[in-house]
Amino acid sequence: MSKMSKPVNWTAQRRAVFDIVQASHDHPTATDIMERLSASGHRYAYATVYNALRYLTEKGLLKEVKIGESASRYDANTSDHAHVVCVRCGAIAEFEQAPPAPWMDEIARGTGYRVLSAELVFHGVCPACQGKTDDPTDSGAAAR
Ligand SMILES: [Zn+2]
Ligand SMILES: [Zn+2]
Repeated sequence: MSKMSKPVNWTAQRRAVFDIVQASHDHPTATDIMERLSASGHRYAYATVYNALRYLTEKGLLKEVKIGESASRYDANTSDHAHVVCVRCGAIAEFEQAPPAPWMDEIARGTGYRVLSAELVFHGVCPACQGKTDDPTDSGAAAR
């Protein structure tokens, strides 16, 4: 109740950015969001989009997803969920599964930390990439 002390100040830019992220299910980067905004007729400066993303993330309306060294992605799904990333095409899927409580307890015991949250990222090969033998990033045998 005290968490959301101030109401969200919905500017046109923030609303447009939020709508784009909410309509996207691929965890877009700021650049992706820029492209989708301009495709729908909104021409905002990168800084405007970036500031809107930061604001919405601070307000808890969006979640920032960091995967490795790549650019931050944004998620309108703010529940505790895990992501699985395709090592070939970079596609991201998500599943609604919070880390098991016994595991969190074990980490807390082992480190002395009070564990608040976890971000789980799994790596794999997505269904679309499975069975694609002509993929140049496939390290398997390139039989002709
Ligand atoms: Zn893939
Ligand atoms: Zn997600």
